[in-house]
Amino acid sequence: MARIVVTDGMAPEAIALLNKSGHEVVEGFIEYDDLKSGKLQNFDAIIIRSATKLPAEIIEASSGLKFIGRAGVGVDNIDLDAAGNAGIMVVNAPNASTQSVVELTIGHLLSCIRYIPKSDRSLRDGKWEKKAMKGTELNGKNLGLIGFGRIAQGVANVAKALGMEIHTYDPYLPPKVAKSLGAYLHKDVDSLFKTCTHISIHCNLTDETKHLVNEKRMKLMPKKKSGIECGNHIVNCARGGIVDENALLDALNSGTITSAALDVFEVEPLPYGYQLLEHPNFHGTPHIGAATLEAQQRVGIDIANAIIQCLNGEKPATLVNKKYFD
Ligand code: NAD
Repeated sequence: MARIVVTDGMAPEAIALLNKSGHEVVEGFIEYDDLKSGKLQNFDAIIIRSATKLPAEIIEASSGLKFIGRAGVGVDNIDLDAAGNAGIMVVNAPNASTQSVVELTIGHLLSCIRYIPKSDRSLRDGKWEKKAMKGTELNGKNLGLIGFGRIAQGVANVAKALGMEIHTYDPYLPPKVAKSLGAYLHKDVDSLFKTCTHISIHCNLTDETKHLVNEKRMKLMPKKKSGIECGNHIVNCARGGIVDENALLDALNSGTITSAALDVFEVEPLPYGYQLLEHPNFHGTPHIGAATLEAQQRVGIDIANAIIQCLNGEKPATLVNKKYFD
């Protein structure tokens, strides 16, 4: 029997699955300082989402820990090399939330161009601002997807059905993948910004993608005065930090960007007085991409199964730090 700690919550079905396999599950958030003082030493495995951070100093303080399960896709809150060097396998559940993030992205795109959150705020203020809420359609517009993995491909399929033309920039993507989905693959990211009025981000946060959406690139986007009347719109449901949020605020203020929506932020939860929230054409959500009943059930079951496989001495297909276990 193994001892597993679940620190950021997990669907009851997934906890039941671990219990049924004969393992003890302890649920509850652990503060950073407690992790640092070796709280994980008594556990074989930890299952986290995005709230728990496992940098090198925590991993080094956790002798005895053998497996880390990330209930979701992003593993930027785990030091993968420190884990690998300590012989700790890191597994994730990359497929479970794809559809939920696709649907949220489309929701944000539509909310941007039809001013849905802005209209709601205006109604609550007792106003009836019909003329001010004149939007545009997605149909016929160029959608630029930065990163063309699971989520972006799902967004592309829905956006195509809405009549959008799909463009992408993904330096790691075999060109035939973009071609098979009818997407135009740009060789450099600036060319994507020059071509697209609507940009949605779906890559990982890395040194390469930090502030990839910045002042210079937003200024490359099509100009209204060149006859493109729909304006420019940016959505990020990937990771905070890919969009330079100060530059985005400036671009909204200057009109370079007409509307924007973020699900993910450089600092989460948002600090008091966060400035983008003051802008009428900005709206946000509190990192809820995977927050659906269906995704949470799938993610929990997928990660529980992966941890059970690890405990049985197998190597799950979703092992992230593979190179340390070849
Ligand atoms: P994925 O691995 O299938 O796709 C990511 C793509 O980004 C890959 O095709 C990769 O080649 C590409 N990429 C890597 N570096 C790049 C670069 N420099 N420029 C352009 N493209 C680059 O991942 P996915 O499942 O589609 O997830 C995409 C993003 O969504 C991830 O950042 C993930 O963390 C995030 N996500 C957010 C939520 C949420 O709650 N908002 C939920 C799930 C996933």
